[in-house]
Amino acid sequence: MENAEQILKEQYSRPAHQELYEQLEKDKVRCYSCGHQCLISPGKTGICKLRFNKEGVLYAPYNYVAGLAIDPIEKKPFFHVLPGETALSFGMLGCNFHCPFCQNWLSSQTLRDPNSLIRFEPISSTTIVELALKHHCPVMVSTYNEPLITSDWAYEIFSLAKEKGIICGYVSNGHASERVLKFLRPVMQLFKVDLKTFQQKNYDKLGGKLSVVCSTIEKLMELDYWVEIVTLLVPGFNDSDEELHELTKFIAKTNPNIPWHVTGFYPNYKMNDSFPTSTYQLEKAYKIAKEVGLHFVYVGNRPGSVKTMENTYCPHCNELLIERIGFSIYSNKLSDGKCPYCNTSIPGIWSKKTK
Ligand code: SF4
Repeated sequence: MENAEQILKEQYSRPAHQELYEQLEKDKVRCYSCGHQCLISPGKTGICKLRFNKEGVLYAPYNYVAGLAIDPIEKKPFFHVLPGETALSFGMLGCNFHCPFCQNWLSSQTLRDPNSLIRFEPISSTTIVELALKHHCPVMVSTYNEPLITSDWAYEIFSLAKEKGIICGYVSNGHASERVLKFLRPVMQLFKVDLKTFQQKNYDKLGGKLSVVCSTIEKLMELDYWVEIVTLLVPGFNDSDEELHELTKFIAKTNPNIPWHVTGFYPNYKMNDSFPTSTYQLEKAYKIAKEVGLHFVYVGNRPGSVKTMENTYCPHCNELLIERIGFSIYSNKLSDGKCPYCNTSIPGIWSKKTK
């Protein structure tokens, strides 16, 4: 482990992008790659353990992946981006949170949990873009671990990908700084935010701040990112009616056109003894969100068992527009991004042009 950590830091880290940190007195640095905005003394690391201060210079990971796959775009999940297409998905190591229900904890908790792994494959930014082109992926996303903490390298990859017409995005917990969101916007258009709970006392258990995630969502809308929000419904953690009302009311107030995915939990990591989310709980959350006024609500992780709650309907005439089960599209009636029955524009990215 020590050797792997040394290799990671000595061979797969380089000075962070100038826009993502500030050099301060006594060789301290302030990192802006995520919402923690860590103040890091020489010889120390930030909360994520992956970014570190070496003699007054902040170092950040690059040139490797811990996961690389071609996924259906519905798996990210983005339901309003090129339905039925694929996304080249890559992930690195580490996270700025420590969620007890994490599905990717073996790689996300690297250097934070002694039971996690330091396994990775060297790869260059150009090779990742070539792979996306070779496999005709119109979208590329940084996912699996928390992408914010490796924004320097994502920026490099996405700059190359955008030149080739690939639409780029993050699958993130949304614990961002304003600076990193502005930094990424010229090369990145998609942002999936996990809004994990609407109570600060719950965010305390995960290692973040609710106010920071809410600000991220508002700032993403201002910066004209395409945003979809996911909430993993964990029994006994975030599934009370009151909390779901508050959470969905916040999304509706920000913009009722933001798609909200409420997904089912399966026992995992430190919550192996918990119960999975019931279909009843997911359907209840769906109904609350619709009552609150969200236009696009989707139940995830229960393919085929939640009636029509995986489909897209026109918010104006209520006709079925996109029929889905799990990650498969069964029909798509959208015409130029509009409802063919009443001509209402449906928000999303329906053509392959990058913005
Ligand atoms: S990415 Fe976040 S957690 Fe890591 S050093 Fe920077 S501010 Fe701290």
